[in-house]
Amino acid sequence: MTTHATILPRAGILDIAPYKGGESSVPGANRVYKLSSNENPLGPSPKAVEAYRAASDTLASYPDGGATALRRAIADVHGIDAGRIVCGAGSDELIALLCRAYAGPGDEVLYSEHGFLMYAINARIAGAATVVAKETAYTASVDAMLAACTDATRLVFIANPNNPTGTLLPSAEIARLAEGIPPKALLVLDSAYAECVREPDYDAGEKLVDARDNVVMLRTFSKVYGLAALRLGWAYGPEHVVSVLNRVRGPFNVTAAALAAGEAAMRDRDWIEHCVITNEVWRGWLEKEITAAGLTVTPSHANFILVHCPAEGPHTAPALDAALRARGVIARRVDGYGLPNSLRITVGDEEACRAVAGAVRGFMAGVTA
Ligand SMILES: *Cc1c(COP(=O)(O)O)cnc(C)c1O
Repeated sequence: MTTHATILPRAGILDIAPYKGGESSVPGANRVYKLSSNENPLGPSPKAVEAYRAASDTLASYPDGGATALRRAIADVHGIDAGRIVCGAGSDELIALLCRAYAGPGDEVLYSEHGFLMYAINARIAGAATVVAKETAYTASVDAMLAACTDATRLVFIANPNNPTGTLLPSAEIARLAEGIPPKALLVLDSAYAECVREPDYDAGEKLVDARDNVVMLRTFSKVYGLAALRLGWAYGPEHVVSVLNRVRGPFNVTAAALAAGEAAMRDRDWIEHCVITNEVWRGWLEKEITAAGLTVTPSHANFILVHCPAEGPHTAPALDAALRARGVIARRVDGYGLPNSLRITVGDEEACRAVAGAVRGFMAGVTA
């Protein structure tokens, strides 16, 4: 490790394992299918690309620090109050700001066993202690999370659907969690994959936020919206949380290009619908193919699947990862999420899905690429 003898960061910072993004290249492969970061294989709305290009005419000007037009578009589409939306440089920035604002030394940040790694990383950066609640069948347990709450709990993070498991809790369970957490705790409902969910009574958080004063919802433009490169996300919460986020964020935390592209992407509902339906079709196809090949897949409500391998023998997760790579497919190892025998694979386009299925079949049949 590279440490300096006298110039050191605050206690705990050097204990944090840096977040590793999904890999994007395979040496020697001619076509690479990057299925490691849950990006949209169809890309963003063409209207978003056009708006991004148009933003190049005004690069000398600071962006609108209040993100007025983007918040208006989000509010129109979601039927929510624009005044209670805060935009960020990816939902990652909002996770970081919430941790910095609400948790510090002596406080606890709670999340579930296979929860998104950025919760732990940002809690530790803030100096807070992390508390992990056990899951059941790769699904967060509200009972376990409530049992893990203490007087020191300040933030409770839950992603619904969850990454990397793809599992979904009924919205009534999320409401029960919000109802049961201690009075000093804020529930952060991370709905990064909400667009993918087709359950009729699913609430991504708009209703729950409106009904309570202890819930904030996070959304991102990085997944179904296809704008991961621009770093854009938003939070919807009660006024008291919004006023805190607006104090701790940078005055120009979102770029003008991201604001312009995000607004156009938000208003292009046809494109999102097209992407969501395509994802649903190919996710179902991939789940069937991989199951037929002899591996287990956790049914997913998102734009990726979690594939489970035997812990021993020729068909382990590292062996499958290597076999996929040999055919140019980059999946995501999820050891860091406590899932050493699983791989997370983004639902790519048709060609990518066929490449995955072919590679898995070959791997299970013992054929080397
Ligand atoms: C991808 C992801 C995010 C981060 O999205 P950005 O907006 O790109 O920072 C947040 N939460 C979950 C669960 C994710 O999978």
